[in-house]
Amino acid sequence: GVSNQSTTSRSEDMLLGSLLSPDLDEHSCMSRYQSGLYRKTSPHNPSTYLVSKLRNYEALHKRCGPNTLLYNKSVEQLRTNHSTDQLECNYVIWTPLGGLGNRMLTLASTFLYALLTGRVLLVDHATDFVDLFCEPFPGSSWVLPSNFPIESLNSFDVDSKMSYGYLMKHNLISEDPKTWSEMLPSFVYVHLESTYIWDMYHQLFFCDDSHFVLSKINWLLLKSDNYFLPGLFMLSTFENELSRMFPSRETVFHHLSRYLFQPGNSVWELAMKYYHSYVAMANQTVGIQIRDFPWSLMSKEDRFNQIMDCTLKENILPHVTQHSRKTTYLNTDEMGSKAILVISLYKDYYDRMKSYYARSTHVGQHVNVYQPSHEEAQQLKNQSHNEKALAEIVLLSFSDVLVTSAWSTFGYVSYNFAGVKPWILLSSKVSKEVHPPCRRVTTMDPCFHTPPSINCKTKRRSKTKLTGAHIKQCEDVEEGIKLV
Ligand code: GDP
Repeated sequence: GVSNQSTTSRSEDMLLGSLLSPDLDEHSCMSRYQSGLYRKTSPHNPSTYLVSKLRNYEALHKRCGPNTLLYNKSVEQLRTNHSTDQLECNYVIWTPLGGLGNRMLTLASTFLYALLTGRVLLVDHATDFVDLFCEPFPGSSWVLPSNFPIESLNSFDVDSKMSYGYLMKHNLISEDPKTWSEMLPSFVYVHLESTYIWDMYHQLFFCDDSHFVLSKINWLLLKSDNYFLPGLFMLSTFENELSRMFPSRETVFHHLSRYLFQPGNSVWELAMKYYHSYVAMANQTVGIQIRDFPWSLMSKEDRFNQIMDCTLKENILPHVTQHSRKTTYLNTDEMGSKAILVISLYKDYYDRMKSYYARSTHVGQHVNVYQPSHEEAQQLKNQSHNEKALAEIVLLSFSDVLVTSAWSTFGYVSYNFAGVKPWILLSSKVSKEVHPPCRRVTTMDPCFHTPPSINCKTKRRSKTKLTGAHIKQCEDVEEGIKLV
């Protein structure tokens, strides 16, 4: 009957069109069931194939998750230093690098790699970052147990002797299967940090031949500060699966991030408290994320002028009149009120914005300016700092309109959570002036800042720029690529 139908569609909404498993406990993770009430419904449905891949993955993760019999068996194999094809469970361990946004982008990229290769994704236990999120996989955990036999996973780096690049460079493993018997190590480190760009051997990860060899290794450790996911679309090895999972490529991270990253209860409560105290009353919310990188040549004043140039020109924010008192209000219900959410490490922009809108607007629209926090500096390993940062990403994701900053992974995550195409405030490393001040993105996919530059046939640096039907140059980073 009718009521049945509406119950189904309501619970489907809560599970983001079946993206989320129904087998999870509602109370341990409030955001999982409530996000759908605050964010706009995604206009993009996940494919049924993606949904079935996720359910199968969850079953695999439950079978192979930490401290299961099969996990213990794979750990035993690790101690022999040789890979075997007798194991049911193979793993990829993700290790953290960079800020929150960077981590979410690399973790999602690694998860997609796990989905494509039948591996189980585990997260380095030494990171403080996963505490911010709910466990994504029902009946199991994604945290690597602390008694995992290899210590200091974060110390693997560009020169590590167990890196895939090093092993290939020194012919310690070859791409020829005939030479493999008993030769493949049980564990290999994949170095995809931006520094990989200087070493063709690390870049072999983006060549098809590598993935047959890598598929034979029981344990992979992966470290990156780069959204390398678009690179997986350049490999013919995964082409077929990827096109079935993601008929629309620009929503890959949109779906994967909504699936993986459910803010934990304390972050969710922080975001809810702020939202209901201030933002919820507005008819429209404009989120402005202002990230200033140390290399920027702009003063705070230049930057504020850039923001106003952008938002006024694009009709995102209303002009003010010359009068200094709020006297020209029309009926605010009619005109709607606007909340401007200023998300930045600095209080400066909030102050400037607030004094700008202390004057009345041309159209008599009521404008309120809010800033949840101003931490002044980026911090590492500070739980409350991280919670605020994630809560602000969540608040941005409830916005109707978004303006984010060039180069910022924090911004990329916010607009993908939101499912909104933002305007990006452009930045220049060589000039104080930027023209145009901002640009609307054409697709939601985040930017892969440092794509590989290898020619897979010659194994040398490629002289031509990466091209392909599925990729284009990013709006905000000249050398970066994104999915279309
Ligand atoms: P990116 O550097 O902009 O690509 O973003 P990341 O998230 O990777 O790293 C920046 C880090 O600085 C964040 O994780 C926060 O810890 C902090 N941060 C930067 N901007 C803000 C902000 O607007 N609000 C808060 N609360 N923290 C911020």
